[in-house]
Amino acid sequence: MNYKPGICTFCGNGCGHMLRIADGRVDGVFASRNHPVSQGRLCVRGWNIHELLSTNQRITSPAIRKNGILEKTTYDEAISVVMEKLIGYAKSSPDQVAVLASPRSSNEENYLLMKLARSVLNTNNIGLDSESGHRASMDVLKAGTGMPGMMGSVSGIMKTGFILVFDMDITHQNPILGSEIHKARRAGATVVTIDSRKTQIAALSDHFLQTRPGSNKMVLGALAKIIIDDNLMDSEYIQKYTSGFEGYANLLGSLSFGDIESKTGIDVARLREIAHLLAKAGSAMAFYPSGISGLDADMIGYLFNLFLITGKAGVNGSGINPVTGLNNLQGGYDMGAAPDLLTGFQSLDDEGVVKKFSDAWGCKLNPKKGKSPCEMLADPASLPKALIVADHDEGII
Ligand code: SF4
Repeated sequence: MNYKPGICTFCGNGCGHMLRIADGRVDGVFASRNHPVSQGRLCVRGWNIHELLSTNQRITSPAIRKNGILEKTTYDEAISVVMEKLIGYAKSSPDQVAVLASPRSSNEENYLLMKLARSVLNTNNIGLDSESGHRASMDVLKAGTGMPGMMGSVSGIMKTGFILVFDMDITHQNPILGSEIHKARRAGATVVTIDSRKTQIAALSDHFLQTRPGSNKMVLGALAKIIIDDNLMDSEYIQKYTSGFEGYANLLGSLSFGDIESKTGIDVARLREIAHLLAKAGSAMAFYPSGISGLDADMIGYLFNLFLITGKAGVNGSGINPVTGLNNLQGGYDMGAAPDLLTGFQSLDDEGVVKKFSDAWGCKLNPKKGKSPCEMLADPASLPKALIVADHDEGII
């Protein structure tokens, strides 16, 4: 019996596990006690993840569709057929080739796929599925902080006084993260859930604002308005780290409390209670969904501004944190699996960046921004002639 350490690749939590290997097969999973994120915990999906290795639904050999039927073949034949066609397209119409990278792939795999697309197939039509919500989150965070990822860490949850779970079913999507928030509440943190659904975390929270569907942005604006009206902002922080506060305050000034109550379904007194708790907390974290169920950029901007005016962004572990349902969505972007970004969020618009990568890879890169496969597939006029799909479920084939 042999045990190998690894990371659960199901959701974005990244829990540590030990895989048990017997007779050349992985036949069990155990929680890794020392893992800094999960600390000996796995959710029900994590305890059973080894079954994915032995399911008879795995694709275990290459196949080529002939007369409508997938027929097994050798790797040599499959690679030569695919590359002949792809290189033909790359020479004649690289804009019609697309690559769908995967949030389930490792960083190394996504880097190689991105390099294949750009340096061999001459296309920037590469992207990840679940891209919209996470891309919006990255763009807001990069513009606001310079870093396109989480502002806090899982280990910081227990040190936080105020936790906001915003518009996400966190105990189902990321159960171990949900359990850490529940643990922090038992240790004294105030947990607030804002959602139109009555989720499990809502029932476990100190305060649950059940909003009317479509009104969450107004709730965030209302909380900020109350903080400004009641003079609870962190003026020193605003002065030191932000710009454009007056315009933002004027915008919120146009909100009427009558409208807020009728559109959100929440009493202003209740909103005031939450606004005061946030403003007076020593530190605060917000968790919101990214990926396919993610928020739009405007909504994330409202959430970020709420934390900025209370001085709860980037100090004492405070800040807003996107939570992905898929394990390596962020890593895929880090590696450059995007139509306009190279590795490390370096922009294709920058000639120096394109030259640097061209020199390093020994080829001339196409500098024209591409389209993501999701964009191409959504528009009948831009359907790709060839699509590489990496690391996705069999159903997509
Ligand atoms: S919470 Fe996510 S990463 Fe952790 S065991 Fe469950 S599915 Fe795996």
